[in-house]
Amino acid sequence: MTNRDDMFQRYAENPDVDVLILGGGVNGCSLLRELAAQGVDALLIDKADFVAGASSKSSRMIHGGLRYLENREFALVTESLNERNRLLTNAAHYVAPLRTTIPLPSYFGGLVRSMLIFMGFKIRPGERGVVGVKFGLWFYDFITRKNRKTPRHFITSKAEALRTMPGLRDDIVATATYWDAWITQAERLCVEMIQDARAAHAGCDAMNYIRCRAADGGAVMLEDELAGRSVKIRPRVVVNATGAWVDIANGDLGLDTHYMGGTKGSHLVVDNPELHKMLDGQMVYYQHADGRVCIVFPFMDKVIMGSTDIRIDDPDEARCDADEVRYMLDTLRSVLPNVEIRRDQIVHVFCGVRPLQASGSKVTAIVSRGHSIHLAEPEGDRPFAVISLVGGKWTTFRALAAEAGDEVLARLGRERKTATDDMPIGGGRDCPTDEPQRQQWIDRVAGQTGLARARVAELFARYGTRAESYARDEIENADAGTEQPLETLPDYHQGEIRRIAADEDIQHLDDLICRRSIIALLGLATEPALIELADIVGEVLGWDVARRQVEVTRALDEVRMPPDEG
Ligand SMILES: Cc1cc2nc3c(=O)[nH]c(=O)nc-3n(C[C@H](O)[C@H](O)[C@H](O)COP(=O)(O)OP(=O)(O)OC[C@H]3O[C@@H](n4cnc5c(N)ncnc54)[C@H](O)[C@@H]3O)c2cc1C
Repeated sequence: MTNRDDMFQRYAENPDVDVLILGGGVNGCSLLRELAAQGVDALLIDKADFVAGASSKSSRMIHGGLRYLENREFALVTESLNERNRLLTNAAHYVAPLRTTIPLPSYFGGLVRSMLIFMGFKIRPGERGVVGVKFGLWFYDFITRKNRKTPRHFITSKAEALRTMPGLRDDIVATATYWDAWITQAERLCVEMIQDARAAHAGCDAMNYIRCRAADGGAVMLEDELAGRSVKIRPRVVVNATGAWVDIANGDLGLDTHYMGGTKGSHLVVDNPELHKMLDGQMVYYQHADGRVCIVFPFMDKVIMGSTDIRIDDPDEARCDADEVRYMLDTLRSVLPNVEIRRDQIVHVFCGVRPLQASGSKVTAIVSRGHSIHLAEPEGDRPFAVISLVGGKWTTFRALAAEAGDEVLARLGRERKTATDDMPIGGGRDCPTDEPQRQQWIDRVAGQTGLARARVAELFARYGTRAESYARDEIENADAGTEQPLETLPDYHQGEIRRIAADEDIQHLDDLICRRSIIALLGLATEPALIELADIVGEVLGWDVARRQVEVTRALDEVRMPPDEG
């Protein structure tokens, strides 16, 4: 019996659960972990795979949000910087400081517009100059002065900037350099929060590919998209953490809400060694002529660039289209004019919907990235309260979950037992936070297990301190071929993939390549690789030959590129 079968049976026997969380994005997963830490029973469900929404489509910045200062969002930036600093410790296996450079075309540019936006006018931001950016960076440094985890910002003269980054546009007066942070394995961090929640409290669990709707008698019907079965449950509180889908999910529960005004954002992943070299480990954060802020940064051996910001009504319709690809390539030319990216160097595209609060503003760039929590009291034949989480950033997931957790605890009449502020996540537990410590950790595990140092380092980058158990597994079960590299993806070994298939709620092949690993993100999801992966996963999950083929086709569809329209 699978964990899924077991859960359906349990809820059929006893349909009562304290909390039902809708949505397994970073906010839903974080809330599950938060409630598990308080000993509250909770079930998280996602209509698709966990992390299938915005949380796997973000720019991967764990950041304060420099430009939100223009909107007077000092509290949001302060909260974001504090959360960023926490993640640098609590998720040190995936979150690391990122040096960021902003080319500055003038000294005083954008000031008038910035001031008007600051005063509440909903206008497009101007191209910001040295003074405006310097003010923002000073605020950054001021907020983090007592808990400094990254170096202070500095301004570089034009001559020096062009010397260190020769490809940069040359009509600048200076550059500003500061540090934010980035996350390598955003998807895995979410899945690790589910694993942590399950381990911390037996009453907490999660299921993917489950739909839900209001049912008779105040119950909620859960429908298994995979097995075609359903079960009624009776939650005391429902938390709607479905991001851009919040209003749609509320509609399924009989609530008419209009909280969301999402925008779609796309990114390109490119394989261009010249650009990678030029960036020299740092992100360039720049403004297009239309006022939008774009970013380009090295990601492993590739480069990620983006993003767009386009209003969208139906989040299920979000796809990166040919115009967006053109737009992103054009914007890059405006800052690194000599870089040519060929179409065949675009190895992956991804698109998601920002769960922005409805604002009525036509200028998407100035819509708040803050979050709010809305409560719908029990009403009519709905005996449970519905708490909707609206808006938010990836960076602030813990703060939002803590706030939502307090609201849930109040409704259940329970006391908070513990705070998650300093609680490590998954393989971030006992994780070295600097390079010498990291090397020591790798040396120790290589020495104790006998696994090659380079392989331990690879596993550490993927699983943090949990890499130790992967390393032991590779050695102890070598007879079963665990340490055998894949033919198509030699960085991955058989045992590693089998373990993910067995332990991490894989229902489809694309769950593995898109949301338990960064295989798709790095453009490695070729047909031969998918066939090999489908065989390994299929063996663990009992897929026959026909099912394996279906999964390969589905996964290829998931990573298909937008058509090239010239
Ligand atoms: C292009 C882009 C760039 C971004 N860049 C950054 C960045 O650099 N830094 C940053 O801090 N933030 C960034 N963000 C914002 C960040 O990604 C989001 O704020 C965050 O991921 C939202 O998480 P969530 O859990 O609320 O929603 P989501 O991740 O969208 O999760 C919602 C989940 O709910 C599920 N769902 C939908 N309907 C139902 C239903 N009826 N029942 C059950 N489940 C359902 C979906 O399948 C999905 O898995 C970016 C967002 C985008 C789109």
